Amino acid sequence: MIDSVDPLLKERLEKMGVTVDMRPGIPREELLRIVGNYDILVFRGRLKIDREVIDAGSSLRVLARYGVGLDNVDVEYAVKRGVAVVSAPNAPAQSVAELAIGLMVAVARRIPLLSERVKRGEWPKGRYIGVELSGRTLGVIGFGRIGRRVAQIARGIGMRILAHDIIDVSTDVKKLGGEQVPLETVLRESDVISLHVPLTPDTYKLLNAERLALVRDNAIIVNTSRGEVMDYEALLKHIDRLWGVGLDVLPEEPPRSQYLRQLLAHEKVVVTPHVGSETYEAMRRLAEELAMNIEEVVARLV
Ligand code: NAD
Repeated sequence: MIDSVDPLLKERLEKMGVTVDMRPGIPREELLRIVGNYDILVFRGRLKIDREVIDAGSSLRVLARYGVGLDNVDVEYAVKRGVAVVSAPNAPAQSVAELAIGLMVAVARRIPLLSERVKRGEWPKGRYIGVELSGRTLGVIGFGRIGRRVAQIARGIGMRILAHDIIDVSTDVKKLGGEQVPLETVLRESDVISLHVPLTPDTYKLLNAERLALVRDNAIIVNTSRGEVMDYEALLKHIDRLWGVGLDVLPEEPPRSQYLRQLLAHEKVVVTPHVGSETYEAMRRLAEELAMNIEEVVARLV
């Protein structure tokens, strides 16, 4: 295991008879040196599990992503080399959805900014009037496990739901009183936009300069999917006319580029350091789901 995971995963793997070696935070160079000794590699999104790592792992049988997104793994190459790839796609949905809603409220009411001011000894009552989410339109881009959970919670708050997806999700959206519509309609008609697509060549910079220009003035955008799904350089140009943005994911984590630092320093931006799945409940469910999925593929291999 090359990243920190819930101790339950180690316990579950040891029960299966697997000898577990914990190397959390191991640098890439060291991983390349030692990966040849392992049959199963457990990792998060920190390091790229690319051809070089897969080739160096001459005994590898299973690549196990402790999380959902497989965008840091060369899945096609792994499968070609006979290495199974598993993840735990169901475990974090509720936690990520709750964070997305939390970011919406934090932006709508400027909670971090107000909190910071009060802590500094100020009392800025009457200075930052917020907006309600109820009665506003939420546009969900990617109506999968997380997107639909966000829509359900938002429905409870009293929001109208629009959803965009490349597959037909219209029946499920209708159940929430909403409508499946093209991407441009979501961008033009939503007061709040929440991104929940996987990172693929098709979704890279899905919200680019051209599409951001379609978004309403005073809209809120929340991204808990992947930083690369939105062009943050273009977002910087639009931030003043938006109500604000809530970001859990960045194209560079941690951020280094000047444009990113400038964006994050803006008072309309609320940012968290990619913590969507970081709840005790999600981490435990991740451990359980991943252990089960590893067990299943190992049983098929023997
Ligand atoms: P999912 O696969 O269940 O749902 C994704 C949906 O997006 C699917 O319905 C799919 O059809 C749709 N989609 C794919 N390409 C599309 C496109 N080009 N346009 C519109 N829709 C498209 O995924 P999920 O489990 O809901 O995860 C969603 C995102 O959240 C992923 O990017 C994942 O990496 C990310 N995530 C982030 C965190 C975090 O810590 N912030 C944690 C878990 C997952």
